[in-house]
Amino acid sequence: MVAVVGGGPVGLHLARRLQEEGWETVLLEEHSAIGKPVNCAGLISASGVKGLKLNLGDSLVNEIKGARIFSPHNEMLEVKRSRTVAYVIDREMFDKSLYKEAKEKGVEVRLNTKLIDVRNETLFVEAGTRGELLKAKYVVGADGVTSKMRTLVGVNTSPKDFVHAYQAKVKGNFNKKFVEVYFRDYAKGFFAWVIPESEAVARVGIATSEGNVKNAFDLFVSEKNFTGSFYSKSSALIPIGLPPKNLIKDNLFLVGDAAFQTKASTGGGVITGITAAEALCKAIGGYFKERTSLSSYYSHLKPLNKELKSHWKIHNFLSKMGEDKMDKTFRNIKNAGVEEFLNEYGDMDRPTSFLGKALTKPSLWKLAPLALRFL
Ligand SMILES: Cc1cc2nc3c(=O)[nH]c(=O)nc-3n(C[C@H](O)[C@H](O)[C@H](O)COP(=O)(O)OP(=O)(O)OC[C@H]3O[C@@H](n4cnc5c(N)ncnc54)[C@H](O)[C@@H]3O)c2cc1C
Repeated sequence: MVAVVGGGPVGLHLARRLQEEGWETVLLEEHSAIGKPVNCAGLISASGVKGLKLNLGDSLVNEIKGARIFSPHNEMLEVKRSRTVAYVIDREMFDKSLYKEAKEKGVEVRLNTKLIDVRNETLFVEAGTRGELLKAKYVVGADGVTSKMRTLVGVNTSPKDFVHAYQAKVKGNFNKKFVEVYFRDYAKGFFAWVIPESEAVARVGIATSEGNVKNAFDLFVSEKNFTGSFYSKSSALIPIGLPPKNLIKDNLFLVGDAAFQTKASTGGGVITGITAAEALCKAIGGYFKERTSLSSYYSHLKPLNKELKSHWKIHNFLSKMGEDKMDKTFRNIKNAGVEEFLNEYGDMDRPTSFLGKALTKPSLWKLAPLALRFL
């Protein structure tokens, strides 16, 4: 029996896949319903959806073809494609459809069940108002950004490993094919975003490593002159640290936000977390079928970790840059033709796929000093 702690997209996907691999799987979720509260802007890459064969079904809200990225004083970079590059999804419906798939495959899902502790193969849980003991050979922590399982695995974190985010929906006039990203001094260490659901509604948010995030949100919406009413407000942490080296301790494993498997440059963690769930499923499945080592989880994670490291470098590079420097950098990269380059090669999940190619483009060689600083 494998116990998966956390009924977010990563835990639900993993539980279904483990059950398909022949493991009896139980999933524990502390809330009384799957999919709530929603702490997500719901933007996921089309390439990730295709690669992982995810079925978006009724959760698909909008299709995105490009991004407009603004420097602190509004130098703009525009990246666009003729085809859809990303989807805006309804996270509650997406999680609910993963839940349905998991249940159909035979996963036992226990709602209102909170993991308190694990000792060897015994789980101590709170089910409603009662304490209970459960047994599982392996326990996977897919319990999100404030993971209890992370502590049990012995991973230490510090406040600088997270940014604080605030998001709401607003009515207005939007270009439904473009997401917008704004670097601002009041969004230190991250940025603000506008993700359209339609021409009339967008998800507007901001995350920052310093100061009060709600004040930063208010500044952003007044600067953008959003006048419609705000609803579906939420605030949460986003993990932006590098994935820790130890994701396994004895019979315990970490995956998803709990394991910092998020893109530090954008905060996106749905596709990367599910990719990591596939890696863990392969490791557990390999052990089950061929007695290969469970630590093969690390080798299966290598391609993902390479990308996560690049995202982390991009995040660090940008967050250390002052406002004027960032404006100048935007001008320089625009003049060097980076937009055209990204229109052709950009990939929101896999920066290594285009960072390497950039070196082969003579027009981009004038950015060598910048590239050296980045490296
Ligand atoms: C404002 C914001 C915007 C975002 N926008 C995007 C985006 O546009 N695209 C994207 O890809 N990602 C985005 N993310 C990140 C994305 O939401 C996460 O990466 C994703 O939800 C991670 O999935 P998960 O299953 O690992 O964790 P979660 O979705 O957090 O699920 C963890 C689950 O574990 C449960 N749990 C926790 N502790 C326990 C316990 N002790 N016992 C039982 N259950 C427990 C929780 O209730 C929860 O249901 C955003 C995050 C934020 C905060």
